Amino acid sequence: MKHILLAMALVFSGIDSYSQMTVQRCVYDEWKEQALAKHPEWMPIEKQRQAFINTHTLYEEGNAQKSTAAVTIPVVFHIVLNSVQLNQIGGAAGVALRVDSQMAVLNRDFNGMSLDQAGIPTVFKSLYGNVNISFGLAHTKPNGTSTPGYEIITTTQSGFSVLSGTVGSQQAASDAKYSITGGADAWDPTRYLNIWIVNFSEGTILGICPPMSWGIGGGFPMAEVGPAIHYKTFGKQGPSQTGFLTGYNGGRTLVHELGHFFELSHIWGNTPAGSGNCLDDDGIADTPQQEKDNSNCPTFPIANCTNSAGGEMFMNYMDYVYDACYKMFTKGQANVMNADVSSPAGYAFSLSQNPHLLQFPTSVGTVIEESDVTIFPNPTTGVITILNNDNSPLKKMVVTNILGQSVTQLAPQDPLSKSHSFDLSELPKGVYSVQCIFANGTLTKKIIIQ
Ligand SMILES: [Zn+2]
Repeated sequence: MKHILLAMALVFSGIDSYSQMTVQRCVYDEWKEQALAKHPEWMPIEKQRQAFINTHTLYEEGNAQKSTAAVTIPVVFHIVLNSVQLNQIGGAAGVALRVDSQMAVLNRDFNGMSLDQAGIPTVFKSLYGNVNISFGLAHTKPNGTSTPGYEIITTTQSGFSVLSGTVGSQQAASDAKYSITGGADAWDPTRYLNIWIVNFSEGTILGICPPMSWGIGGGFPMAEVGPAIHYKTFGKQGPSQTGFLTGYNGGRTLVHELGHFFELSHIWGNTPAGSGNCLDDDGIADTPQQEKDNSNCPTFPIANCTNSAGGEMFMNYMDYVYDACYKMFTKGQANVMNADVSSPAGYAFSLSQNPHLLQFPTSVGTVIEESDVTIFPNPTTGVITILNNDNSPLKKMVVTNILGQSVTQLAPQDPLSKSHSFDLSELPKGVYSVQCIFANGTLTKKIIIQ
């Protein structure tokens, strides 16, 4: 273990010294080694994860791909940036564009629809796998209210550490995943796929993703499962868009990281990129044996450890090449990922069981009729009575002034009563909106205090 720690120290001191020069595509292996060194009690979880891969990659060359069920997973993006970084990607409007293009890339690449498959070398073509997982923006929040499927959190932090956090596991960009450290709290991670868009403090690291298995397995915080990716590699660059990292502007950092989320290892195995060996393996039956990572855009073929036909499958999403040079998951990889969400034994199965979260909530404002509610006297000198002819209980009443500012909110003494009196005599004279929030919906009326 000592030599591994030394190697990690070198890798990370390298990142510090070259901070803006060196791009580190992913630190999944480095994170896992550090986590297991600190918490050897988590090793059984990692062993179980690798056993899960072996069980579900049951694909033998020449056989047809196992049938995979189509599933859709609710996604929420937590964009946690300071105001300078937010401006660099075009502010709120830029975020909205990136959310859309990122979702399109995910649904394309995880459903066998990328045109890049035409460029797969002939020797690998028959191995191309369709994962059959779709992603949808969540439109209902955990509290039942509506959401566009992303939130922008303006932080004072300039970057979050990948391996030296201060809360939670203190690793895997943990500080980005808790509001108390200037990040954003996960939404119920058993129902939502949480994705954090951040800057990292150690330099140009593109992504990290603790897989669902580690959260389910116990010990590792469930609130930290899910990818955190560099904000300049979020989404696919459009014709007039700026603020992307060259080579990593096709939205595929997240494709790679979600491979980890659904339990895949790197194609060369589980040792850190660059220090790999020919004995280590990713556990997938139909990926060629590979020593270590490839970068940029290699020329085919590159001979591999075992001199198998075609050599290294560097165009696989679980290698480290440029976005434009990625072309495929294999059938074996697709089987593992699909089983992870569509099989009840899969770690991420619960994410496929909440399709209602993809819909906007429907109850608010649709049940209560205007004529059901009367507020009198109006104008009033202070005390008002709300008469409710609907059977829905009144939960609370919110008063806003003409500037839209909430000035007071009061709960009724008996929510089930048909008549509720409130004293507003402390408010200045003027026009106000009274929002009555019932269990079945909301109704707003204007009143005048004189
Ligand atoms: Zn990776």
